[in-house]
Amino acid sequence: AKTAGGNSQSMFAPQMYQNIQQRFNMEQALVNAIEQQQFSLYYQPQVTDTGRVIGVEALLRWFHPDLGAISPATFIPVAEETGLIEDIGFWVLHQACQQLQKWQTDPQLVGITMSVNISAQQFYLPEFVSLVEQCLRQYNLTPEYLMLELTESLVLADLDDAVARMQQIKQLGVKFSMDDFGTGYSSLSYLSRLPFDEVKIDQYFVRSGSTGQPRDWVIVDAIVGIANTYGMKLVAEGVETHEQQQLLQQSGCRCYQGYLYAKPAPAADTAQWIKQYLL
Ligand code: C2E
Ligand code: CA
Ligand code: CA
Ligand code: CA
Repeated sequence: AKTAGGNSQSMFAPQMYQNIQQRFNMEQALVNAIEQQQFSLYYQPQVTDTGRVIGVEALLRWFHPDLGAISPATFIPVAEETGLIEDIGFWVLHQACQQLQKWQTDPQLVGITMSVNISAQQFYLPEFVSLVEQCLRQYNLTPEYLMLELTESLVLADLDDAVARMQQIKQLGVKFSMDDFGTGYSSLSYLSRLPFDEVKIDQYFVRSGSTGQPRDWVIVDAIVGIANTYGMKLVAEGVETHEQQQLLQQSGCRCYQGYLYAKPAPAADTAQWIKQYLL
């Protein structure tokens, strides 16, 4: 008879093998996805309480020919672990900038900000600053309308280096947004040391808890206070209901992104949505 140890070994090994298999397949599938152009960008509008559309966030979509849509929450971490995010992120930046160029020449869409998510590996590439510069030139962009979204953990990984890089990129005219702010449970006050132009309130805070009241509302108030003190723009994400929007507005947050307004959609659909919304 097998010992308990042997038993758990034999149960564990195939599963480990399976995980390695899955990881391998996902990595290979991502390589194919780049080569076979299975990625596309969707865009989600950001609106103000006065009914203006100030920008869109570019969100990556992967449509696999057999598996269908695969969530970025699933494949971005694998892309980051395998280093494939460098190529994918390069593609995203170019695609978003090319779209921004089109919208900057449309009288109804000019002045809309394009926000792009940037992974740590991408941001800390030695050539990242010149990649951004190259995009601005290639697509003849007004740099103020390009906004790079960085997360707290990216910035905290190497605070001095992050700030130095941000300063270099800001000299080009490009803006920065602090994504998912407050989710790291670190001190909120270090934001004052960072050259962010915008702060995004994570949907975790916007969502309702069991009481029907939004969770950690005191943190929302703190974030609004900090953003106002340092003259940073504020956007709340994941806004799904009028009630959430009203509570956010009462707290002093005047800019919203979420299903209440529009889901992320292909460029043409989002452009049309914006034009209708502005009517
Ligand atoms: P994120 O940057 O925090 O993006 C916001 C996420 O919330 C998006 O999920 C968006 O579709 C979703 N969302 C927006 N409004 C609502 C709402 O009202 N309710 C709910 N429940 N969700 C809402 P998505 O598109 O699945 O992206 C997930 C994450 O994947 C992003 O979170 C971001 O961290 C990452 N990601 C997406 N695109 C890129 C990219 O191009 N580059 C990198 N590095 N990461 C990306
Ligand atoms: Ca984001
Ligand atoms: Ca976010
Ligand atoms: Ca997030």
